[in-house]
Amino acid sequence: MSGIGIFGGSFNPPHLGHLRAAQFFADALALERVLVIPAGEAPLKAAPRGASAEARLRLCELTFSVDSRFAVDATELRRPGASYTVDTLRALCAQDPGQACYLLIGTDQLERFTQWNDWRGILRLCTLCVLQRDAAPLRLPPELPQDRVRLLTGFEPLEISSTQVRAVLAYGEDVSPWLAPAALQYIRQKGLYTDRPLPERETAHQWVARVLSPERLFHSQCVAEAAEALALQYGAEPERAWLAGMLHDCMKLATLEEKRELCARYGKPLLPEEESAAQVWHAFAGEAWLALECGVTDPAILSAVRWHCTGHADMTLLDQVVFVADLISADRHYPDVEQVRSLAARSLDEASLYILNHIFAKLKQSGRQSHPASIAWQKELISKQTEPE
Ligand code: ATP
Repeated sequence: MSGIGIFGGSFNPPHLGHLRAAQFFADALALERVLVIPAGEAPLKAAPRGASAEARLRLCELTFSVDSRFAVDATELRRPGASYTVDTLRALCAQDPGQACYLLIGTDQLERFTQWNDWRGILRLCTLCVLQRDAAPLRLPPELPQDRVRLLTGFEPLEISSTQVRAVLAYGEDVSPWLAPAALQYIRQKGLYTDRPLPERETAHQWVARVLSPERLFHSQCVAEAAEALALQYGAEPERAWLAGMLHDCMKLATLEEKRELCARYGKPLLPEEESAAQVWHAFAGEAWLALECGVTDPAILSAVRWHCTGHADMTLLDQVVFVADLISADRHYPDVEQVRSLAARSLDEASLYILNHIFAKLKQSGRQSHPASIAWQKELISKQTEPE
């Protein structure tokens, strides 16, 4: 048999499982050429995170160039909108009408093949070649015409997926067994795939449940809900708001020494002017604990936790949402809480200023200093209020 193989995928990033599969197809089907086609927007997958289209293209070149039968094709990356295989096949067949086409997929893709756009049209243009990736008995969807499908067995799988590679890279661990050396070098050079996904809500809950009392945990849940609601109202990201709300008090019950040590180990030791403000150390230590012990890297969440007590000039919307949510959560019962809730419903700035003024008054009563970051923020809020519209 001779003809052209089409091997598509997100390739985000391409790994040695992909290379091994493409080589198996090329050998088994005696293909002269295999086009490796990274998808632009894969219609049945969430938008690719972590690497740009250009980077995925380059990574494919670096991975597949070891075999002269392979060429990387950017057609789908260059085409705006969702990448439909049927359009790619039509374009290829129009270029070379006499050529036999083989669409190469793994069994995981077969399960969803009949959801692909115009899958019947695809089968008119090519033979579908399916690589059996595991020992599970293969069930061909009954509506597939059997004579247009070839099943290839005997493949020795490399148990890896791009999703796993991304996760391992994000945690800075060794991925060299699964990536072509040149591709790995490129990923390191460009700093790709270092974003860790946000923690699941369940995970965040478990972290704080380990270190907080049931009452504090309940407060955190209430703040998470209030923060999510404010985020929805004011246009911040609700998921980050919920997570930051859940995590904001994580170090509330740590000892002063533990808080001090965490801040120092995180590289943001307490400042001399913070020595007398032990009531806010848990916010700074909370940022440190989440980064050092839980592996949270999301700067927006870390910032919201750090500033939830004091605030600072130039608060982000998320910082401010969590700051206010902490004071209006459903479990709060101080005398003017309803007043703060109605201010928060109208304006985050008004609610923040009201809260700051209240904190300053209480500190003054007990002869304590306000944190310089809070003073700077109060000034900023006042000048915003007095600015002409
Ligand atoms: P993700 O984890 O993002 O879903 P993936 O690793 O499964 O990605 P895709 O880009 O979706 O990779 O896959 C492209 C093609 O490669 C598919 O046909 C898939 O069946 C096949 N494939 C993916 N991983 C392997 C593997 N480890 N061994 C053999 N084939 C694979």
